[in-house]
Amino acid sequence: MAVLDHHRVIAIDGPGAAGKSTVALQLAEHLGALLFDTGALYRAVTLASLRHGVSGADADGLARLIDRIRIEIHPASVADGRQIDVLLDGEDVTWAIRTPEIDALVSRVAAYPQVRDALLPVQREIADGKTAVLVGRDIGTVVIPEAGTKIYLDASTAERARRRLVELDSRGIASSYDVVLHDLQRRDAHDSERATSPLRAAPDAIVIDTDGRAIEDIVHEIETTVRSHWESEARGE
Ligand code: C5P
Repeated sequence: MAVLDHHRVIAIDGPGAAGKSTVALQLAEHLGALLFDTGALYRAVTLASLRHGVSGADADGLARLIDRIRIEIHPASVADGRQIDVLLDGEDVTWAIRTPEIDALVSRVAAYPQVRDALLPVQREIADGKTAVLVGRDIGTVVIPEAGTKIYLDASTAERARRRLVELDSRGIASSYDVVLHDLQRRDAHDSERATSPLRAAPDAIVIDTDGRAIEDIVHEIETTVRSHWESEARGE
């Protein structure tokens, strides 16, 4: 593998609806960093599999599909609540990848080693030489283990279900607390029990419980940590 420079990468991992995206967006703005939500890759592959008729059970077929499609992630170009633009073969699929249908299918697709291997170089290259905030499940453990700062954001399942319900509601998607809770629990189990790159805090990650805490407060805590890492580095420590 080529030698890549990842010392200014901030890895933010954790389960769904723990506040990762909101925290990462504000942090990236404060630090002038690139924001890269890696879950969008797995979601875009899942959407592509539905469109191209590739079964979610066909791991090799999914890996071949990744070679044929083009996924792009750009800063948000529309002020409709999105944090990034996600394009699939040139089409804006930012919202199409965030439906309950994709929620229900994505963890199975993401569990295949063939799919993860195919998406690994893309993630490592995007962050090369940049000040970048990468959000995901395995950034600090597998994708960028050499990241300069590693954060693991967590929250209780009840709190995460409440947040996800509010988020769906704000987008006009009807659901219920029980349905959302069940989906989060199922994805948690899938993401943490899979053999390849399970959801886990890196041993050197700072674990932050976001229950009952204001976003600004969490962003401030992480920003202070990142800046102190940068200062020690500038002093050659
Ligand atoms: O973060 P988000 O909810 O968009 O992620 C969707 C799914 O993609 C997760 O439930 C997980 O299965 C998968 N994922 C992953 N590794 C990442 C990011 C997301 O396996 N780095």
